[in-house]
Amino acid sequence: MIIEARPIKLTTRTGIEVRRTLPHAKLKTIGAWCFVDHFGPTWQTEDMVVAAHPHTGLQTVTWLFEGLIEHRDSIGSVQLIEAGQLNLMTAGHGISHSELSLKTEGTLHAVQLWVALPKEYLDLAPAFEHQADLPVVELPGINAKVLVGEFEGAAAPTTHFSELLGVELRLVPGNHTISLNPEFEHGLMLAEGDLSVGEHIEVSSLKYLAPGQTQVEVETKAGAVVMLLGGVPFPEKILMWWNFIGRSHEEIELARSQWNSREERFGSFEDKIGGWIPAPELPSVRLQPR
Ligand code: MN
Repeated sequence: MIIEARPIKLTTRTGIEVRRTLPHAKLKTIGAWCFVDHFGPTWQTEDMVVAAHPHTGLQTVTWLFEGLIEHRDSIGSVQLIEAGQLNLMTAGHGISHSELSLKTEGTLHAVQLWVALPKEYLDLAPAFEHQADLPVVELPGINAKVLVGEFEGAAAPTTHFSELLGVELRLVPGNHTISLNPEFEHGLMLAEGDLSVGEHIEVSSLKYLAPGQTQVEVETKAGAVVMLLGGVPFPEKILMWWNFIGRSHEEIELARSQWNSREERFGSFEDKIGGWIPAPELPSVRLQPR
């Protein structure tokens, strides 16, 4: 199955077009990965301006192929991130953050990913980590940087709460065999170049691979940069609404009202952007986990 990316207009002052594959009507999660946005490469390097907004029940992963982004959050983190580094924010019970791209010589090109927390971790205290020294595996024609989990014997130090894999693969032109954990389902999202996995995949789109496979054959004519995302199929139904993940309508309703009334749950911080993004109105129907 191929999930074709769809363009998303982000709220509030961000001029950059984002292409989203997860969540999708046909595919809610890959392991605990529940949100995949790809943006750039763009010369609008200063146009990713996302003012303060909250999260619950998830981890956000920021991964750059090129560019520079400043992260600030309500537990006091101020962190510049560049290509090949990882920003991981564990929202747990509640956090707020902002993200601002900064001018660079090159382009801005990145993915923003969310990881759903299992229900026993929904109330974790919020945390932030920056990983600047992630393991790299060199295989014939493949350079693999491990963001989270273990790939080809190299394990990332990144904190995670379910069996999970995230790898940036840089492929030289030709045919390649990529090892997979047969207990995991996987997705291959093409960030740059060209890729065939049995069939051709467009840039920003994602090829889904069901559990039970120990490897996958891919081909690239000009070379490719690919995100390999995997994990044990997520055993729970989750409720994703706006920037919150929970399990019930009431949890989401409470988080929404607490954010919009600026309650202490989501903290506060100063940044260069100013302001904050209010949560939209809830739909008139009850939200259901799925
Ligand atoms: Mn966010």
